Amino acid sequence: MSKAIRIHANGGPEVMKWEDIPTPEPGPGEVSIKQEAVGLNYIDVYFRTGLYKAPNMPLIIGQEGAGTVTAVGAGVTDLKAGDRVAYAGALGGYASDRAIPADKLVKLPDAIDFKTGAAMMLQGMTAQYLLHRTYAVKKGDSIVVHAAAGGVGLILCQWAKHIGATVIGVVSSDEKAELARANGAHHTVVGYSNLVSEVKRITGGAMAPVVYDSIGKDTFATSLDCLAPLGLMVCYGAASGPVPPFDLGVLAAKGSLFLTRPSLATYTAKTADLRTVSASLFEVVASGAVKIQVNQTYALKDAAAAHIALESRKTTGSTVLVP
Ligand code: NDP
Repeated sequence: MSKAIRIHANGGPEVMKWEDIPTPEPGPGEVSIKQEAVGLNYIDVYFRTGLYKAPNMPLIIGQEGAGTVTAVGAGVTDLKAGDRVAYAGALGGYASDRAIPADKLVKLPDAIDFKTGAAMMLQGMTAQYLLHRTYAVKKGDSIVVHAAAGGVGLILCQWAKHIGATVIGVVSSDEKAELARANGAHHTVVGYSNLVSEVKRITGGAMAPVVYDSIGKDTFATSLDCLAPLGLMVCYGAASGPVPPFDLGVLAAKGSLFLTRPSLATYTAKTADLRTVSASLFEVVASGAVKIQVNQTYALKDAAAAHIALESRKTTGSTVLVP
């Protein structure tokens, strides 16, 4: 047997149960892995609460982990027992052992330990596609990054600075502002009430070509007002709740704006894209330009406490759960 956190119904952190499960065997095209570390992500909250629909119940939530291959299923030729691997974007993460399609895995470079691997795959690959494909950030751009001291946020700040952009990080406290500035944010704004005027001041009135907004409901309208004409609103998360339906005419009135609601799944659906995005992430981490900050570690069985901390905005950087 092995252990997993499962939910039998949607709800608060208390619906997560630490249970025995049969140790999964790999099916055709799959491998089994013993997980050394599991990543905590906001999407885990969405699946727990029901904002994202569970494909089945009971459900092992969690989308990210790192560990060692223990067995390979029929047809798997590029992985073998003992390989160090990591993944993001495959439900079933909150477990000591799991089976997973082999094409979801990437080999973890020797220089990256399991905890860092589990912390970086989902948030780091998200930062990669947001900065390189959703909008190709370039030297001299002034960009707005919400939740700048969070998991994705700290990676976005460091990577955008490395590219040569000026980062305006938005956070909820002075402590988080300090952390964001120590990790690449050139300017920080605490709260949303003076965000538009601050972006105006910092950009000399030009406003931002792109806003990375992971907050959703509470910030959507303010974020649109931070954009330059023809700017791109990247609404990539909903930590405060989903954005309600709105009038498309607003985009015209505010300067022919573009709007996208991207997801990592689309940007890494093709194996070639997964390889490119993960290689780019490993490279920027190996170079030292981006440091993955695992600022909280919990035992996997205490996942409820980790969710409470994440939802109450008490975490910074990345969080790892250890089986
Ligand atoms: P974070 O570490 O960023 O935690 C969420 C942060 O959101 C909080 O720390 C808080 O920062 C901010 N926040 C603002 N309002 C609220 C609220 N009402 N409740 C809770 N938090 C709030 O999490 P992650 O790095 O895991 O994820 C960041 C975001 O990116 C999430 O929205 C997630 O869904 C999204 N995401 C999207 C992906 C995609 O491909 N589309 C992939 C990965 C993540 P502060 O206190 O500074 O305001």
